[in-house]
Amino acid sequence: MSQNKQQTTYDDNNIFAKMLNGDIPYHKVYEDDKTLAFMDIMPQAEGHVLVIPKQKAVDLADLEPDYAAAVLMTSKKVMQAQRQVFEREGIIQMQLNGSQAGQTVFHYHVHLIPSSIHDLGRHAVTQVESAKLADMAKQLAAAITA
Ligand code: 5GP
Repeated sequence: MSQNKQQTTYDDNNIFAKMLNGDIPYHKVYEDDKTLAFMDIMPQAEGHVLVIPKQKAVDLADLEPDYAAAVLMTSKKVMQAQRQVFEREGIIQMQLNGSQAGQTVFHYHVHLIPSSIHDLGRHAVTQVESAKLADMAKQLAAAITA
């Protein structure tokens, strides 16, 4: 698919669908019946988390109201945990719609990034080692359940 061609139909083989199906590993931060939160493997800052709905939505246009509400409430939990674990108030909530906006995975997701808009690192470029992500996921999960 070319960089500027909009994807409008849901691909069951996208990377986040594979996570939801249990086909590939990820570092879980939180899960409930409608959402899943996990560490971004190529973070734009330390502690970058993604929140996805358990609904086949390409982007915001497809998102059903109950899943939209659930993603927002999970995002709130994760953001509060990030504030605690990383001892900073500033958390960016970001979400890209369409390849023209820079979206690269076509399953709706919210980015929660402990950073400032003025310091934001490059998008989806540098992979972080698994052990580091596992440690952060553990700390964030503990902060959510505390
Ligand atoms: P988008 O560009 O669609 O808004 O964001 C996709 C995000 O997914 C990027 O931040 C990228 O780093 C992340 N990502 C891509 N592949 C994987 C993966 O296999 N595992 C995880 N945990 N994150 C991924």
